[in-house]
Amino acid sequence: MPDFLLNDIKYLKGVGEARAKTLFKEIGVANFRDLLYYFPFRHVDRSRFYNIAELHGEDLPAVQIKGRFLSFLTEGEGVRKRLKGLFSDGHKIIETVWFSKINFFASQYKPGVDYVIFGKPSLYHNVYSIAHPEVEIYNPLKPPSGFRGVYTVTESLRKKGVSVLTFRKLLEEIIKNPAFNSIPEILPNAIIERYRLMPLKEAFIQMHFPESADKLQKAIERFKFEELYFLELNILRFSFERSGKIKGIPFSKIGQKFNHFYYNGLPFELTDAQKKVLREIWTDMKSGRQMNRLLQGDVGSGKTLVAFFSALIAIDNGYQAAIMAPTEILARQHFETLQEWSRTCGVTIDLLTGSSRSAQRKRIHEGLESGELNLIIGTHALIEDNVKFKNLGLAVIDEQHRFGVAQRARMWSKSENIPHVLVMTATPIPRTLAMTVYGDLEVSVIDQLPPGRTPVTTFVRFENSRVEVDNLIFRQLKEGRQVYIVYPLIEENEKLDLKSLEEGYQRTRDTFYDYKVCYVHGKMKPDEKALQMDKFVSGEARIMVATTVIEVGVNVSNATLMVIENAERFGLSQLHQLRGRVGRGAAKSYCVLMGKTNSGAETKKRLGIMAETTDGFLISEADLKMRGPGDLEGTLQSGLPFNLKVANLARDGQILSRARQAAMDVLAGTPELMKKEAAFTTSDANLHPLKLDTNEIRIAKNEIQTRFSKTIDWSLIS
Ligand code: ADP
Ligand code: MG
Repeated sequence: MPDFLLNDIKYLKGVGEARAKTLFKEIGVANFRDLLYYFPFRHVDRSRFYNIAELHGEDLPAVQIKGRFLSFLTEGEGVRKRLKGLFSDGHKIIETVWFSKINFFASQYKPGVDYVIFGKPSLYHNVYSIAHPEVEIYNPLKPPSGFRGVYTVTESLRKKGVSVLTFRKLLEEIIKNPAFNSIPEILPNAIIERYRLMPLKEAFIQMHFPESADKLQKAIERFKFEELYFLELNILRFSFERSGKIKGIPFSKIGQKFNHFYYNGLPFELTDAQKKVLREIWTDMKSGRQMNRLLQGDVGSGKTLVAFFSALIAIDNGYQAAIMAPTEILARQHFETLQEWSRTCGVTIDLLTGSSRSAQRKRIHEGLESGELNLIIGTHALIEDNVKFKNLGLAVIDEQHRFGVAQRARMWSKSENIPHVLVMTATPIPRTLAMTVYGDLEVSVIDQLPPGRTPVTTFVRFENSRVEVDNLIFRQLKEGRQVYIVYPLIEENEKLDLKSLEEGYQRTRDTFYDYKVCYVHGKMKPDEKALQMDKFVSGEARIMVATTVIEVGVNVSNATLMVIENAERFGLSQLHQLRGRVGRGAAKSYCVLMGKTNSGAETKKRLGIMAETTDGFLISEADLKMRGPGDLEGTLQSGLPFNLKVANLARDGQILSRARQAAMDVLAGTPELMKKEAAFTTSDANLHPLKLDTNEIRIAKNEIQTRFSKTIDWSLIS
């Protein structure tokens, strides 16, 4: 009887028209179902009663006390007016205070009646007082016990008299309604059993009125699973539909250019990891399906070379290839490297960026349209509308997280045929997560660095060691090396940061007056930026003072020292990316993290991790644990066009994997859930196809519809 859940919330006892409007406007609750899914943001333990005499100290938790109101009085005038109630547990008195709805509360509570009050006491002039306590009549037959939900109550809701207690009452109304007993389970039974999930009805009850911490945990887990399961079901449906509709260009051969470069042009042996990844890419490209692959590899793991080989496969088969980078600096660097490689195997190559001159631009556009140009390197300029290819066979996108899904999709419309897509990133994102966030990308990982690298030695230092750090810089300079000095530039206090960058630049020039210093930040014009970069790349400038614009990809192997100022303001993963700019040559390299002198223990510990390891995956894990998923979540969220309610992609990786597996099994066994054109394709051999019955199919379609269809513009990726 699904209709019960779809009942308009205004019909619930205690709601009515006015509150219903506010509930919808404030928290999007329109019907019974919505309210059941309005979960507490935390729970409090109500099994214990406190004596007022037991309260000690300043920072107390919320407590509950049983007793009676002795008297009420109002104090103050106007906005400062408040109601004070004296509450006694029989041995001692505590104050209760209300700042709004004073008349209501003054007449609400009767003397001589046993109440239970609940709230967080604070100490004023040696008397404890609780502001806006939750108050209930004490029922000896049903004393408060177990856990209670605490709900987010907005200001407008509060004004309409909706409190945390109201939420509990309303939810109790729904749950004790006989019709609640017959609400249907929305997950297939087989899945509930296979993954030992708490059934829906019980999960609602335990979520709002948990009997124990254990049951609450199980309920939370169930709802996370449920949310991720439907998400996966939806993503997978679309990805199968896409692969059903889109034919990939089958590249039939590894040709002459590839072989020539491999045997004659390659300046070093490929690492095993690079070979493995290339095999995966080749398998995709010859399969007749469109490749859509995410290539993850730590900074310095040699992704550029993999991109070049992949491009050679396309070119050898008579197609063109494009490599798109997030910044002009990076595009130019790629171009310089690849130009040399291209020369050795007869590939025509050019560079297209925002600052390409119009004559050159025109020449490039023509070369791309005629097919004369085999390989184009560029920035966003590549996805501009007037760029057309004769036959683009492969689009490589470097540093994925700076491009949205939409931009990736635009690469597809550049040519008659849909190109294979290779997305490269140094951000280590767990596989299942990546597949979820980026829709339907298969994932390859380069899990090995080229040999002969000496790990960068990292120190954490504070302002009081400035001289020591300056001397380290001097030493590197004397040895003929180059040095980066990096400042944060974070949008919110851009002005301040720019000032500290400029001061840093000045100070650096004053201190190292015998050496040339260059200066780069994100707000510079591309021309100016390129000029400054060139000075450093050519070795003319020995020190570069920069913001994080150098974070991605810049490659100067003579740079052996990086000093990162205000290091405490960076996430570990970002520090790791930055640090990857040094240690690119054979010489011993160093990284100094300069923290604020008065940094807390937590910060010191966090930065200390950087000194201990150079493993990008370990670092990102530690970052996740200590800072919460901040950085990663930002990255993930930017890939995902909607918000999850209960589950958290960065933290619930395990549940996500299981939910994805479940969705995969269901789709494998229930093709009716997919659109007609969809083709079930998966390289996961680990399937246990699961057939849903008619009713379960209807429910699943319904859930996907209500949960996601409004918020995702799937046309972008399908
Ligand atoms: P990233 O994965 O960070 O993009 P790059 O592709 O820029 O890394 O490679 C980093 C450096 O390692 C480059 O100078 C590149 O020439 C070098 N390199 C790449 N592959 C190998 C290899 N197999 N052996 C030795 N050096 C390599
Ligand atoms: Mg790179």
